[in-house]
Amino acid sequence: MSDTVLVVAAHGDDEALGCGGTMARHKAQGDAVDVLLVADGVTSRGAAADAGPRQAAAAEAARILGSERPRFLNFPDNRLDTVALLDVVQAMEEVIAEVHPDIIYTHHGGDLNIDHIITHRAVMTACRPVPGQPVQAIYGFEVQSSTEWGSVDQDSQFRPTHFVEISQQLKAKLAALDCYKDEMRPFPHARSGEAVTALARLRGSQVGLNAAEAFTVLRQVKPH
Ligand SMILES: [Zn+2]
Repeated sequence: MSDTVLVVAAHGDDEALGCGGTMARHKAQGDAVDVLLVADGVTSRGAAADAGPRQAAAAEAARILGSERPRFLNFPDNRLDTVALLDVVQAMEEVIAEVHPDIIYTHHGGDLNIDHIITHRAVMTACRPVPGQPVQAIYGFEVQSSTEWGSVDQDSQFRPTHFVEISQQLKAKLAALDCYKDEMRPFPHARSGEAVTALARLRGSQVGLNAAEAFTVLRQVKPH
């Protein structure tokens, strides 16, 4: 039976960095993949900034990865901590009620970026395991230049326990990231094509695969 997958990311490019290969793999397996982007991705860069180009980039990346056109909540970029958490949760709950996902991929809670942390928190709140909760699995992804830049406190480190092979999807992941030219940097920056490839190879080699994306298991329920 096919699954419905929802990727909840703070900014356009996080979804491709965190689980682009896995999104393409879900699609190839016949699953439906939706993307929800929480912050608009540009307002911290000045009042004149226009969210249009980044939203267009996100739509193109989604097309390459085989997902539906992203939904945008348009909360202020890098200022999610100025919004009541409840507002973010309620906006998210509306989308979850509509999409009815079986599986959610979202941020690791220990990232450096404040929007990533709040998105993680809001997902966990919106998906609290009350009876009737449709979401059966929540996985936390890593975003290069935020997850590994976070605090090294024991509790906030990213320690993956779930790996998805993306040997056949790595090309599509890199092509999706090409849509976000303004966000990508030359190597040796963590957000470069070379570094993304290197991490995919490293995560793969940790479990005997050519390339993989790694996740923490935030919740997994097998009801029947
Ligand atoms: Zn981000």
